[in-house]
Amino acid sequence: MVKYQGKGVYGAVAIGKVALFGKPDTVVKREHIEDVNAEWKRVVAAVEAATAQLSEIYEKALKEVGEANAQIFEIHMMMLEDEDYNDSIKNIIETQSVNAEYAVAVTSDNFSEMFASMEDAYMQARSADIKDISNRLIANLSGTVDSANTSGDKVIICANDLAPSETVSMDKDMVLAFVTAHGSSNSHTAILARNMNIPAIIGLGDEWLAATRDGQMAIVDGYDGVIIMDPDDETLASYQAKKDADDEKKRLLLELKGKENVTLDGTRINIYANIGGVDNIGAVLANDAGGIGLFRSEFLYLENTDYPTEEQQFAAYKKVLESMAGKKVIIRTLDIGADKQVDYFDMKKEENPALGFRAIRICLKRPEIFKTQLRALYRASAYGNLGIMFPMITSVSELTKIKAICEEVKAELKDQGIEYSENVEIGIMIETPAAAVISDLLAPMVDFFSVGTNDLTQYTLACDRQNSDIEEFCDTHHEAILRLIEMSAKNAHANGAWIGICGELAADTSLTERFLSMGIDELSVSPTYVLKVREVVRNINLK
Ligand code: PEP
Ligand code: MG
Repeated sequence: MVKYQGKGVYGAVAIGKVALFGKPDTVVKREHIEDVNAEWKRVVAAVEAATAQLSEIYEKALKEVGEANAQIFEIHMMMLEDEDYNDSIKNIIETQSVNAEYAVAVTSDNFSEMFASMEDAYMQARSADIKDISNRLIANLSGTVDSANTSGDKVIICANDLAPSETVSMDKDMVLAFVTAHGSSNSHTAILARNMNIPAIIGLGDEWLAATRDGQMAIVDGYDGVIIMDPDDETLASYQAKKDADDEKKRLLLELKGKENVTLDGTRINIYANIGGVDNIGAVLANDAGGIGLFRSEFLYLENTDYPTEEQQFAAYKKVLESMAGKKVIIRTLDIGADKQVDYFDMKKEENPALGFRAIRICLKRPEIFKTQLRALYRASAYGNLGIMFPMITSVSELTKIKAICEEVKAELKDQGIEYSENVEIGIMIETPAAAVISDLLAPMVDFFSVGTNDLTQYTLACDRQNSDIEEFCDTHHEAILRLIEMSAKNAHANGAWIGICGELAADTSLTERFLSMGIDELSVSPTYVLKVREVVRNINLK
């Protein structure tokens, strides 16, 4: 029995036999050819065939993992059309009189190295995409079958790395787990595995792969990122028990898909999901969330090396709105500062950053950043059911200024003949004690409140949320916090606004009944908690 440690990218347990996944032999020979035109025509035909295959894979992914995740195959199709990529292949064929396979292989090496050397993690991950499309082209040129086939029993797929198209092409019903020697948790493969609900571990290393044989027994623990090869009987029995309990929990929860969030006495609530980016949409859909209650837009800024442009933001917001197909999507404006620092914002060092220049304060002081984001948001509003939410509000005057800027942005768009929706809901986070205490004054100015219990706890109890040494003083169930939430709920409802909770406390099922008694209208939790909260709601009787 040998244990290897990697990084778990989807928490679940699998026990079974290993199937080593090898790619078709793509060692490409350099051959001299006479007719360079005919060789280029072979490339054109191979690109056409590859596009048709990718289009099929796209359709399959669309059904299995949702639009946001399927999009990578549209990107692959676009990459196949890329002028620089095609010019490079053509030039190599023409100038060196070599075979198409060789020209594609050299182009693949050059382009993938270029992406791999970029600083941005997202661009680095594109290196694998270049290799993926190039291998497909080579397979088409040489007539090798390029498909990920698993036959017979369900197996644990073990590979050096897996390309997104390989992952999604596999028959999901035949795969127990994905395990790779390399790969990054940022890669689309990891995201796909997560959204396909298949346990996955990456980064187990070359030593593990070299020692792994087809048909070997293994235990994959995606929670801890551990694989145990040739487990002994005792280990097998203990993991089997863990897996059974886990499966039972998940099975029961999945039965709740499509069911209403309604208590035994008929009180209804919305259960939405929190996301950090477009890539999380698959999980939102897979877990049957009724909408998105918090899109932390600052991740767009954190992932970038410079201010994301209006176009970049518009594309991301539009994608989320379209994927949610008319369901509510609440996007929170930039909440940078405190624990979320971004180099290019060039912020001064502060003694107490959590009490400093952050979130809405930055937006009001640097309206050019704020307006760019608002323009992108309003433009995207034409593609779905958008709510815009503002973080860290402490006063009526802040909200007055924000609303005036929103009106300016809308007027500008109207003048420019750019489409936006007139039905965008405006809301604020209740995450400072000040906002809760004056919620009677703020409620008439908005459509909704969303309570950010993470910060509300920090500011109410004077407990730095980053400091693990004071955790015992940071009682999230503190009566002061619950009273502030209750007060905000009363004031919201008295003024025709609705109220949700999007902080971590929303997923604390020991409080669900209390929240429902307060009249909370929406709970927004990480996608994997949606069904768990639904289960608890359906067993509550408020009468
Ligand atoms: C909160 O403060 O509860 C919240 C949801 O916002 P964040 O955790 O992003 O600060
Ligand atoms: Mg917060």
